[in-house]
Amino acid sequence: MILQLTKSKLAIDTLRISEAKYRSLFENIDQSVIYLDATGMVMAVNQAAEQLLGLPRDMLIGRKFVDSCFNVIKEDGSDFPEEQQPSLLSLRTGKPVEGVVMGLFNTERQSYLWVAVHSVPEFRVGEHQPHQVLMTLTDITRQKQSEGKLSMASVIFNNIGEGIFVTDKDKKIISVNEAFTTITGFTQQDVYGKSAHFLHSKKNNLKIDDELNKATEGVNSWQGEIWRRHKISMDFPSWTTVSEVKNSSGEATHYVHVFMDITHFKKTQDHLGFLAYHDPLTKLPNRLLLKDRIDHSLQNALREGSQAAVLFLDIDRFKGINDTYGHTVGDGLLRETAKRIKNLVRKEDTVSRYAGDEFVVFMENIPDAKSPAKLAQKLIDTFNTPAYIKGYRLKISTSVGISLFPQNGKDTDTLIKNADAAMYRAKKEGRNNFQYYSQELTTEASEKISMESALRQSLERHELILYYQPQVCLKTGKLVGVESLVRWMHPTLGLMSPRQFIPIAEESGFIVALGEWVLQNACLQMRRWLDQGLNVNKIAVNVSAVQFARSDFVATVEQILQSTKLAPSYLELELTGGSFMDNSEQTIKALNQLVAAGIDLTIDDFGVGCFSFNNLKRIPVKKLKINSSFIVDVLTNINNETITRAVIALGHGLHLQVIAMGIESKAQQNCLVNLGCDEGQGYLYSSPVLPWSNIFQQLGMKPK
Ligand code: C2E
Ligand code: MG
Repeated sequence: MILQLTKSKLAIDTLRISEAKYRSLFENIDQSVIYLDATGMVMAVNQAAEQLLGLPRDMLIGRKFVDSCFNVIKEDGSDFPEEQQPSLLSLRTGKPVEGVVMGLFNTERQSYLWVAVHSVPEFRVGEHQPHQVLMTLTDITRQKQSEGKLSMASVIFNNIGEGIFVTDKDKKIISVNEAFTTITGFTQQDVYGKSAHFLHSKKNNLKIDDELNKATEGVNSWQGEIWRRHKISMDFPSWTTVSEVKNSSGEATHYVHVFMDITHFKKTQDHLGFLAYHDPLTKLPNRLLLKDRIDHSLQNALREGSQAAVLFLDIDRFKGINDTYGHTVGDGLLRETAKRIKNLVRKEDTVSRYAGDEFVVFMENIPDAKSPAKLAQKLIDTFNTPAYIKGYRLKISTSVGISLFPQNGKDTDTLIKNADAAMYRAKKEGRNNFQYYSQELTTEASEKISMESALRQSLERHELILYYQPQVCLKTGKLVGVESLVRWMHPTLGLMSPRQFIPIAEESGFIVALGEWVLQNACLQMRRWLDQGLNVNKIAVNVSAVQFARSDFVATVEQILQSTKLAPSYLELELTGGSFMDNSEQTIKALNQLVAAGIDLTIDDFGVGCFSFNNLKRIPVKKLKINSSFIVDVLTNINNETITRAVIALGHGLHLQVIAMGIESKAQQNCLVNLGCDEGQGYLYSSPVLPWSNIFQQLGMKPK
C-alpha cells in the first residue's frame, strides 16, 4: 500500500516536473504558439505570440482567435472567411493545416501583420475528435513587404511612361522596359550586351561619357540632358537620371537609366522663349529683345568708336483705321507694315514692334550721321504705297524720329526717348516726314535727300551739262586734249559743281546712269569735233570708282564707242585710286581689256587718296595726273615742289606721261616746265567751258 502510494506520488511529481518543463518551454520558445479548445476558444498564449500580435494574453484567452480584435484578410486583400481559418479547419477535419497566410490588422500599430499559420489538432487517447488545436504563427511581414515591393517595382518597370534600361557594372545593357522600346524603337534584343553609349546620339558633346562617369563617381545618381538615338527615326533629346545600385558591401553592381523624350517640352520651351522676346502678331523682336540688342551693340560701338542710330516710327492716324475698319484690318496692316520695314533694312539692323502702332529700327555701325535719314525716307516712301488689307485699300503714312549714338544719348533708354521726341516733332511738322533729334541735322539730311531725288530726275529733265577744259603741251602751249567736266543746272539752286553732287550720286548708285550719260555725251562731242575736221587728239572722261565697280563698265564703254563711231584711241579715262583699291583680278582684267581695246588710262588726283605703288606695276596706265593741291603752291612750298618733282621722276621712270592739274600762273607753268612735266591743265589756259567756246581755237584747235 505504502509502496503503491509512493509510486503514485512519484508519478505525480514526475508529471509536475514534466509539466513545469513543458510550461517553461512553451513560454520561452521563439515560436509563437496558441492553444485553442474544441470550440475554437483561445486557451493559452505564449510570450512570443503576445509580442507578435502586440496583445496581452488576457485580451486573447477566453475569446475566439478571430474575434480578438483582428481584421483578418487573405493575400489578395479579401476577407478571410471564418470557416477557412486553419484552427477551425483542423478542429473540423481532424487534420493539420499548414502554411496558411493571413493578414492580421493591428489597430494599435495601424498596419497588417502577415503570418504563416500552422495548426495541429490534438486528440485524447481513443477519441477521434480533437479536443484542442495547437496553432503556431510565423511572422512573414518582411518577406511580404519585399515581395510586394518587388512586384510593385516590376509593375512600375513595365508600365511607367519613362524609358528604363539597366546596365551591369561594366555599363553593358542587360534589361530594358516596354517604354524604352516605344521611345527608342530598339528592343531588348537589339541592345542586349551593348554599351550604354550605343544609345547616345552624335549630337551630344563628345565628352558626355566622361562627364557621366565623373558625375556618377562617388555619388548615387546623375541627372541631365542627353541626346539619344532612335532606331529608325530622328535623334531626340532626353532627360535622363542614372542611379547606381550597390551591393551590401557598397560596390556598384548595376546602373539604372531612366529617361523621357523631351522633344515636345523643348519645342514648347523654345516657343515660350520666342514669345518672351517677340511680338506674337508681327513676329518682330519686342521691347525686351530690342533693349537687349541695343545695350549689347552700344558696348561694341563704344569700344570701336562707331556710330549707331535709333529710328522711332509711328503710323500716322492708325487709330482711325482701327476704328473704321476694325481690329482684324488693323492687325493686317501692322503685319504688312512690319514686312515692309523688314524689307528695307540691312541684315544687321533690328526692327522691333515697340508698342501698338510704334516700331523702332536700330541701326548699328552707321557710316555717318546722315545715313539714317536715307532709311527714314525710304520708310516714309514705302508707307506711302497703299496697302491692300482684306479688300480695303489703305493709304497710310508714317512719322519718323531719329536719335544718334553717341551724340543724342549714350544709353538705350535715352536714345529711344530722344528718337520718340523727334518723332513727335515730325508729327507736329505735318506727319509723313522724318526729324532728327537735333534740328540742324534734320535740315542738312533733308536737303541731301531732296537733292538726291532731284538729281535722279536731272537726266530726264535734261539738267546735266558737260563743260570741257583744255589740256596743253607744257613746252609748246598747244592743245593736246580736252577733259569733260559735268555740271548740274539745279532747278532752284542754279549751276552746281560736281564736287557737290558726285558724292551724292555715288552714294545712291545714280553715278552709274550719270557716268554713262557723261561718257556718251563726251564721246558724241568728240565725234562732232572730228566730224568738223578739227585736230583734237583726246577726250578725257572722269570715271568714278563706284561707277567702275558697279556697272559692267567695259561693255558700256565699248557699246558707247560703237554707237558714237569713235575710235578708242581718242578716249582717255581718268580713274581715281579708289578704282584699284580692291586690287582684284577682276579689276585688273577689266583695266587690261580697256587698254587692249586701245583706250588710254590716266590716274587722276595722283598723290592724294589711296593709290598703292604696287598697282603701278600691274595696271597698264599711260599717264599720271598730279593733283592741283600740289601745284597751287608749288612755288612757295618746298615739300609740294619735292613731291611734284618726285611724281614726275616716278612717271618718267616708268615711261608714263605726267600732266599737272590746276596751273593758274605763268610762274607755276615755268616751274613745271623746268621740272620736266609733259602736260598741264588749269585756269592759266582756260577754265572749263562749253564746247563752242573759241578758247579751243586760241589754243590751236583748227581744221587738220
Ligand atoms: P578733277 O577731275 O580733278 O577735275 C579738275 C577740277 O579742277 C575741276 O573741277 C576743274 O574745274 C578744276 N580746275 C581746273 N583748273 C583749275 C585751276 O586752275 N585751279 C583750280 N583750283 N581748279 C581747277 P570741277 O569741274 O568742279 O570738278 C571737280 C571734280 O568732280 C573733278 O575733279 C572730278 O573728280 C569730278 N568730276 C567732274 N566731272 C565728272 C564726271 O563727269 N564724272 C565723274 N565721275 N566725276 C567728275
Ligand atoms: Mg579729272
